[in-house]
Amino acid sequence: MAGAIIPPPTDSYGDSVGDAEQFSRRHLLALTAAGLAAAGCSDGPGPAVRLLTSTERSGVMLCRQAWGARPARAGGRAHTITRMTIHHSAVALPDNRGIVARLQQHQRYHQDDKGWVDIAYHAAVDRNGNIFALRDTAIAGDTATDYDTTGHFLVLCEGDFDTEAVTEAQLDGAALVCAWAAQQFGIGVNTLASHQQVAPGETDCPGSSLQAHVTSGDLKKRIADNLTAGFELRPVCGSDADARVAGITAGR
Ligand SMILES: [Zn+2]
Repeated sequence: MAGAIIPPPTDSYGDSVGDAEQFSRRHLLALTAAGLAAAGCSDGPGPAVRLLTSTERSGVMLCRQAWGARPARAGGRAHTITRMTIHHSAVALPDNRGIVARLQQHQRYHQDDKGWVDIAYHAAVDRNGNIFALRDTAIAGDTATDYDTTGHFLVLCEGDFDTEAVTEAQLDGAALVCAWAAQQFGIGVNTLASHQQVAPGETDCPGSSLQAHVTSGDLKKRIADNLTAGFELRPVCGSDADARVAGITAGR
């Protein structure tokens, strides 16, 4: 039996199994299934691809190079992520084709005018639900308001949700990247808060439309649903990422 991989019986996915463990078991099963499927294929085995079940969400996280990020400056505060915090940019984005220019603009402003090492946030989500990697998650974010960003995974939902309604796609994108963070950093869904909740009286961020989904528990439920059903958020760089970003900026 040594070395044999025996998948657990499917009835082991009970409530006693933690989210992360449950995910890893599903992942193992899926890889096993993919390997078996590839074994009889004349093309030979390709890269191990996880097979998603019908209830799982999948997406990609576009790397920094894809949105034309400048390098981060040296320095910044190293930290360990313990919670998740939601923001908006407070600048309307009526045409999503402008997302890449907008991210570059944020980074220039944060580095050149604010003197920060990088764009303030760790991840961004546009109104169509596309997810972008921003600041290195090992470095604490920055804020113009009075709260300590140490330990916060900062998610920027691009737009002004005091004047625009947040879209379903953007909510789902935020929930996907937060589920990824919950799993990646071993933190609970209940650590999610909005900027105005961690800096009370300082800001209206993330705007009334998005705040309503935080206050109602809807955003937490979407994150929890991803963790329960399983999900995949795959980092994408290089020519694949460039092609995807070209599609976004062309409005496809
Ligand atoms: Zn904010």
